Amino acid sequence: MVSRVIPVDPFDLVVFGATGDLARRKILPSLFHRFQVGQMPDTAQIIGSARSEMSAQAFRTLVRDAIVEFVSADDYEAETLDGFLERLDYVAVDATGDAGWNDLAGKMRADMVRAFYLSVGPSLFAPIAERLSRHAIATPDSRIVVEKPFGHDLATAQKLNAALRGSFQEHQIYRIDHYLGKETVQNLMALRFANSLFEPLWNSTHIDHVQITVAETIGVDGRGEYYDHSGAMRDMVQNHLMQLLCLTAMEPPSKFTPNAVRDEKVKVIEALEPVPQSDIARGQYRAGGGQGSYREHAGNPASRTESFIAMKVKVANWRWAGVPFYLRTGKRLRARESEIAVVFRDPPHMIFPNAEGLRGNALVIRLQPDEGITLRTTIKDPGPGGLRLTEVSLDMSFAEALGADSRAQDAYERLIMDVIRGDQTLFMRGDEVEAAWAWVDPVIQAWEDARTEPFAYDPGSSGPEEALMMMHRDGRRWRQIGV
Ligand code: NAP
Repeated sequence: MVSRVIPVDPFDLVVFGATGDLARRKILPSLFHRFQVGQMPDTAQIIGSARSEMSAQAFRTLVRDAIVEFVSADDYEAETLDGFLERLDYVAVDATGDAGWNDLAGKMRADMVRAFYLSVGPSLFAPIAERLSRHAIATPDSRIVVEKPFGHDLATAQKLNAALRGSFQEHQIYRIDHYLGKETVQNLMALRFANSLFEPLWNSTHIDHVQITVAETIGVDGRGEYYDHSGAMRDMVQNHLMQLLCLTAMEPPSKFTPNAVRDEKVKVIEALEPVPQSDIARGQYRAGGGQGSYREHAGNPASRTESFIAMKVKVANWRWAGVPFYLRTGKRLRARESEIAVVFRDPPHMIFPNAEGLRGNALVIRLQPDEGITLRTTIKDPGPGGLRLTEVSLDMSFAEALGADSRAQDAYERLIMDVIRGDQTLFMRGDEVEAAWAWVDPVIQAWEDARTEPFAYDPGSSGPEEALMMMHRDGRRWRQIGV
């Protein structure tokens, strides 16, 4: 099955921070892929920008090198890359000074969609937004895209929102969470709201609990200083896991419009109960496997920052009363795996004698490493000799379903094209981000006040024992990581 490509309108896209890590690894390769499949009109212009002075030709060389490094050689042809590079230009600006802004203004064309991608540190979001407005580079229709992290807590998120809204209106602001650009995450909405099979079961009568796991194998080496001020709760739960929780728990919106969808997500966040410390297990990885400990990577021997967190979260509304959502994320775990597992209740009365140990139905939405959906069912063990039961998974792997030669699209490809199209559905609204921080802040405050130490865990494990105990106390089990 080949996916249909709908070309977008002609655009001028300025990528601030175009020489940085994110731009080279994700943004520019994603734009290249969209060019390659024919989604980008011939008149599209991509202007890279950073402080460093360089010619447009030098920037094209930098982008060529990035694509050679980060795109598999099987996934592109040399002539196509040359065509893409012709779409690129470069202007040096200083986000906090005056240099370069007039040059940038001179590159912008009339009657084009204008988008500004801020792939720079968050302290530069407000200065860039203000200068785009002051130099009349931004029009009332322009779009501005900001990367994570969006704030460090509620107060800083509010301040950032206010600063952006000084120059742009909410319908122009695209706060990116790349998890929302993943096929499976959008498929969760399709699965729930385009099928009649699941929605009648999607409530506390039929669902026992939900597990959301985002496990990583990498540590924080290389970005330890940043991470130590953040931790798993701020870096992963407040944004990515919260988004996954919202899409799983939200009510069906009345229509598929950006605000209708985001209204429902905000309602979920507002329904979250405060989490007591007894329902949280925080962890920090030890040294092992030839690598240093978290504290060594963070350069902070007394750090209390968590590189792992597991927590039980309750959504206080009619649909979810009594159904815990267990969230878990961490660094240096056994495998790189992200999934949402919706675990159904056992049948009310089991007629088969040998059902012990069977885990019952679970719908697993896999985001990483391979995207797909699995439904765990209980069936008869084949063959004669009585009726024994066994577990079988009905598997829908997207790579298989969509054909072997269909390249898995990166989340950024989808999201950047949504920006050009002016579709905010998969971007976080200002009030949504603030609601998430309003829930997260007191949880963090409580452990900071208590000065609790995170529990140590071994690299390559599933996290600290205490996370397992949290589940055991509830008579449940985590799904295994890396099995
Ligand atoms: P980076 O590698 O440090 O790149 C920063 C970019 O900003 C460079 O191009 C730099 O170029 C430019 N820059 C710095 N100061 C500037 C100034 N005063 N005026 C104009 N340009 C300036 O950072 P990154 O890792 O790409 O991250 C960019 C943003 O994305 C951050 O907000 C980060 O939190 C977020 N993010 C990154 C990742 C990732 O995987 N890297 C993932 C998610 C989110 P010059 O030094 O030449 O100016």
